[in-house]
Amino acid sequence: MGKIRQLSPSVVNKIAAGEVVERPASVVKELMENALDAGATRVDVSVVKGGTELIRIVDNGHGIEPDDLPLAVASHATSKIADADDLFRIGTLGFRGEALASIAEVSRLTIRSRTSDTAAGAQLEVQGGLGRGVEPCGCPTGTTMEVADLFFNTPVRRKFLRSTQTEMGHIAEAVTRVALAHPHVHFTLRHNEREVHDLPPASPWSSRIERLFGGELAEQLIWVESQDEAIRLHGYAAHPSESRSNQKMQYLFLNGRFIRDRSLQHALGEAYRGLMMTGRYPVSFLRIELPPELVDVNVHPTKLEVRFQDGGRLYSQLLSTLRTKFLTTDLTTNIHAAPTARYDAAHHAPASGGAERLAHAQQARQEMVSWAKEQMTAWKQGPDARPASELIDPWNLPAERGPLELTRLERAWPAGGADSAEPNFAQRAAEGEASPLESFPAPQRAALGSEAARAMTAGAAEVRAAGALQIHNRYLVAESDEGVVVIDQHALHERILYEQLCDKVEAGQLESQTLLVPEPVDLTTAEAAVVLEERETLARLGIQVEPFGGGTVLVSSYPAMLANIRPGEILRGIVEQLSGGNRAPDRRDLLNHLLHSIACKAAVKAGDRLTPDEISALLAQRGAVRNTHHCPHGRPTELVFTREELDKQFKRT
Ligand code: ADP
Ligand code: MG
Repeated sequence: MGKIRQLSPSVVNKIAAGEVVERPASVVKELMENALDAGATRVDVSVVKGGTELIRIVDNGHGIEPDDLPLAVASHATSKIADADDLFRIGTLGFRGEALASIAEVSRLTIRSRTSDTAAGAQLEVQGGLGRGVEPCGCPTGTTMEVADLFFNTPVRRKFLRSTQTEMGHIAEAVTRVALAHPHVHFTLRHNEREVHDLPPASPWSSRIERLFGGELAEQLIWVESQDEAIRLHGYAAHPSESRSNQKMQYLFLNGRFIRDRSLQHALGEAYRGLMMTGRYPVSFLRIELPPELVDVNVHPTKLEVRFQDGGRLYSQLLSTLRTKFLTTDLTTNIHAAPTARYDAAHHAPASGGAERLAHAQQARQEMVSWAKEQMTAWKQGPDARPASELIDPWNLPAERGPLELTRLERAWPAGGADSAEPNFAQRAAEGEASPLESFPAPQRAALGSEAARAMTAGAAEVRAAGALQIHNRYLVAESDEGVVVIDQHALHERILYEQLCDKVEAGQLESQTLLVPEPVDLTTAEAAVVLEERETLARLGIQVEPFGGGTVLVSSYPAMLANIRPGEILRGIVEQLSGGNRAPDRRDLLNHLLHSIACKAAVKAGDRLTPDEISALLAQRGAVRNTHHCPHGRPTELVFTREELDKQFKRT
């Protein structure tokens, strides 16, 4: 006797229901999507007891013909696709023909519907999968779906339901996602007869966002958009000060469908890298529009995940769009400044510059490079070969000397001088030349287009060094045209050193020192394997590692700049980078990680007393470096108290 049997359609449907209908919110999502597919311009959702007792969704779409009603609740029955080819050009939200069948299987479902060309409507009731036959009824054009007693016949599922409040939370989230994806449709949501949302058709998109999340967030939105052949990306990225402890506020829509995509979330994180503290996540509302044949939406039962034909390209487009935008935007954190559309207008500073300035900046840079070379040579020729841990690092001279030595040259740079040299690079990038900068770490440089090049002069407002004060040995207070700037000395110096290090890498100056006696580093066997696998990448960073057996690796050469950080510390940091996260970090991530560590260790600390010269040196460098408004870890380096705000606080206005 064989043991295999064919399951009954009812069991098959219950299995399908298990995938599609996880909780009341899933029902709300599916029914709302059906309403939108039917061309509805208004969708009213009302639920009772977190959707466990009743979910009613009324739409003004094109309705269902009476003869079609039994088919609507049959499994694998749909009006949206006809053959397999259609699967690759899906323009509707639904296409599997499974939602209604699944819902009908695990609830008491009533459908009332009327098309515009029929005089009367028709009604169909289905209880736990058993239909009662179609009956005429009076109703307006459109469809009303009522789902009562969800999971009444699947007690196990019912047991998994959470509190009314939790289920309602999921429903509100489901409505939010659909409502964000379709701003031109009027949605309402009611819970236990109380209004939760009334969302009239919204334009611009931000007004719907404001309606759902409040004005404070809406004021912090930065418009971004780009078009790369067939792919259009547009929407809002929030100011870095709007961060969250998880990724829930990262709304991503593909062709009107809310999706989750790890790779794109990673791109988002990358774009904000250095603007946000570690462990914080950006807020964004982004829409991607692309031809349906470039994406497979048939990979996930609720279509929450999709598969892009060219995910890599989308990844880069998202990353470069955001980075370019951030470069052109003044991200300084203003204290209670009136947020009048600060982020709406592109902050394109006038492209001041001119040949003279460019030449000046290039000369200054050249000087700095040769100075660095001198330092390196002097140090290489030193009397004794010293272990790596004792090497002198010109980038980490004692605090009194380090910053001043650098500023001797830095001062020669006009404010924004370093920036003026950039068009050169941007130009090269634009010409598609594969420069050594291809994998350059600083996020702001990976995506240089002409817009970005222009933006190089945008950034922190100039402050007057004269009269600047150090307070509590940790903050600098200076005057700017706009008001008063309070600067975190460590964060600013860290940012400056980081940018300078990036420049060194760019100039091919990340020098490596061969160690006379290779330094053994003990790792776990697994860590050692990870490190050895990345030997080539490490070598490009100037770190040569050899296997030594077991968990030990030998470091035979080491970048001069890392002299004050023990190789073991660096290697472990690298292992962490490589094994954390879902996406293998590329060379850029590794470099970035290293540069961050060095900058942090080499910068003046909070608590270091600075001389007036050092204060002005630091402020002078601030003007010469891009992106000083956040330290590499994403803490703001400075806060601005605008004059208007001060006037307001002192009741002068
Ligand atoms: P799918 O959406 O994948 O086609 P469903 O089970 O959700 O499958 O719906 C089955 C069919 O019922 C749809 O293809 C559509 O023709 C019809 N339908 C469902 N809901 C509505 C609605 N609100 N308005 C008009 N037609 C609907
Ligand atoms: Mg559907």
